[in-house]
Parts: sequence; structure tokens; C-alpha cells
Amino acid sequence: MLYLELNEKNILIAAEQLSAGKLVAFPTETVYGLGCDAFNKAALAKVFEVKKRPRFDPLIIHIAALDTLEKLVDFSRLTQKAKHRLTILSRALWPGPLTLILPKLQIVPDIATGGLDTVAVRFPAHDGAIRLIKESSGAVAAPSANPFGYLSPTRAEHVREQLGVDVDIILDGGAADIGVESTVLDISAVSPRILRPGGLPRETVEAFIGPLQVEQVHSDETVNSPGQLKSHYAPRKDLYLHNSSEMRRLPFFPDDAYLFFERSSFKTFIENNKISTEIDNTNFFILSAEGDTREAAVRLFDTLHTIDALPVSNIHAERAPESGLGAAINDRLSRARAQARNVNK
Ligand code: AMP
Ligand code: MG
Repeated sequence: MLYLELNEKNILIAAEQLSAGKLVAFPTETVYGLGCDAFNKAALAKVFEVKKRPRFDPLIIHIAALDTLEKLVDFSRLTQKAKHRLTILSRALWPGPLTLILPKLQIVPDIATGGLDTVAVRFPAHDGAIRLIKESSGAVAAPSANPFGYLSPTRAEHVREQLGVDVDIILDGGAADIGVESTVLDISAVSPRILRPGGLPRETVEAFIGPLQVEQVHSDETVNSPGQLKSHYAPRKDLYLHNSSEMRRLPFFPDDAYLFFERSSFKTFIENNKISTEIDNTNFFILSAEGDTREAAVRLFDTLHTIDALPVSNIHAERAPESGLGAAINDRLSRARAQARNVNK
């Protein structure tokens, strides 16, 4: 495994490796991806193997030019309405943290799409990622660069710790700007639907194409978006999710970690428990002092990685408000829960 700084020289080395069927972990604005050439079946199989990802869970194909859609998408199977939505959204919100589900052309390998006749496509808003994709085949399949089901990587170090030797190259471009995965949107249905809340707020998409439905079920049988399991994005510790008022009233267990959404909840909590100390790093974490969902999303996985490495027993986490990136934060926290893990057993 080569661990390289993200710069022009190393991007060219990595692009060559991608074209040769190797796996390259690279930064995007959402999280780090484990990339391979989207048309190389052997490389795609390796991605599933390295992540221990079930074959039914389709990958997102990353592009760096709108023309590439012609190599991936069967436009003849898009309704006029869907075509119109694709034009509007791709012009307005790409590059960006938005993944669109579109009818696939036969040449897109079935293994990339989990056997579905649709393909997930995204144009990432990250200069390094765009260069890498352009210099290789122009279409890079990349799930998040973590073992299946575990916390997503927002830094290159997370990838090195979790996948290490199984990856050919890791490009280190620093911490991800957004910190949660892309919003996955199906624009083909009569009313377009969010299959996974993510780095682009629902409100932003709605401003362009009107009201969206949001997929609520995260059962293993969900057919619309096969990877959306009830348990995912999870730390190794047991995580319990509380709404704000419950969180503020929790008793203090010295063996547990407390992940507050905002500072005011933490303050009430320490007052209620008559804890006089200032923040103790091993027990208390605040995602955003002022309760900003964007800042909280950036810090979410990074903080969970930190907590997971501490000698604490359980994690108590506070729900975010549902607006802005709060929906994505709550989605990830619900699936990180101990209860969600038990359901999947
Ligand atoms: P990840 O690559 O880990 O960010 O996850 C990508 C997710 O996108 C998958 O787990 C699916 O839930 C969703 N996805 C990818 N392709 C499709 C598709 N063709 N139809 C519906 N959902 C998809
Ligand atoms: Mg993932």
C-alpha cells in the first residue's frame, strides 16, 4: 500500500493505477471513497471483497464531466419529466453531494449496480477527485472506504487504520469538507424520492424540483435502495440515541461517552448532574457549540471514530433538529444504534 499526499504528481500515479485495475482510496467533499475503474469487473469484485460488502449493495459511480452520463445512462428509459429533472439538477447542483439513480446502459457491469437495471451517479465537488477521475477512465466506482457497516472515513488516516494493506494507494487530501455521504435521489418515480438523506439538504433539492418524498424504511428487505440497512455506519461500542430533552436529563455514568449536538444541552446536563468540571475529553463531546447542522455533520464521523477508540462502555448521542443536514445526521445516528444492530442479528 502506498500512502501519498494528494498532489498533481500523485494523482497521475493513482490514475494510472486505477486504469490498471488497482484500488485507490481518495478524498471527496463527502467522505473518502474506495475507487476502482467502473468498467473493470475484476477491480469491482475486489472492492466488494476488501470492504466485505454484500454483492446486493450497489456502488456509486463518480464522474467528472456531464458527457460521461452518455456512457452510463439509458436515456431512452427516462420519462420527459425525469429528463427535465436530470437537466435541472445536474446543472444546478453538480458538482456536489447529490447522487442520482438513473436507468443503466447494458455496458455498465451488473456487479457495480448489485444486479439492478439502474445506476447511481455522482459528480463530486472536490478538485483532487475530479482530476483523478478525469485522468483515469472518467468513471470511477467508489463506495465509502471503510469495512461494510462500520463508521465512514472522513480522513485518510481512517482509511489506513480500517483497510490499510488491502488498498493499493491511499491519497491523503485532509479532512472531508462535508463529512456525511451524498444525498441519494430517485428522480424516475412519479414523485421523486430521497432514498438516503445526506450532504445536500432536502430543502436545497426541493427549491429546484418541488416536494420530495423521503424513504423511511431501512429494513433489510427495502428494495428501492438495497444498501439502506437498518444497521450501518456503526461504531463498535453500543450507541443509544436520545432526543434533546431526554439527553439533558440522563444520569452521568463515568464509563460512558456523551455526544451532544449543541453546547446548551451539555450545559443543562452537567447542571442536572451537578458536575462542576469543564469539559472532560474522555466523556463529553459537542458536535457544534452553536447547534449548526453543517458543522455537526463535518464532525460526526470523526468524533465517533475518536470515541470508539476510547475505553468507554456505551455512547449516548443527542438527536439533531431535522432541518438542513440534521436529517442526514439523525439517519446515520439511528443506524449506528445498538438497537438497530440487534434488529439485524
Ligand atoms: P455508499 O457507496 O456506501 O455511499 O452507498 C451507496 C448507496 O447508494 C447504496 O448503499 C445504495 O443504498 C444506494 N444506491 C446505489 N445504487 C443504487 C441504485 N441503483 N438504486 C438505488 N440505490 C442505490
Ligand atoms: Mg458506505
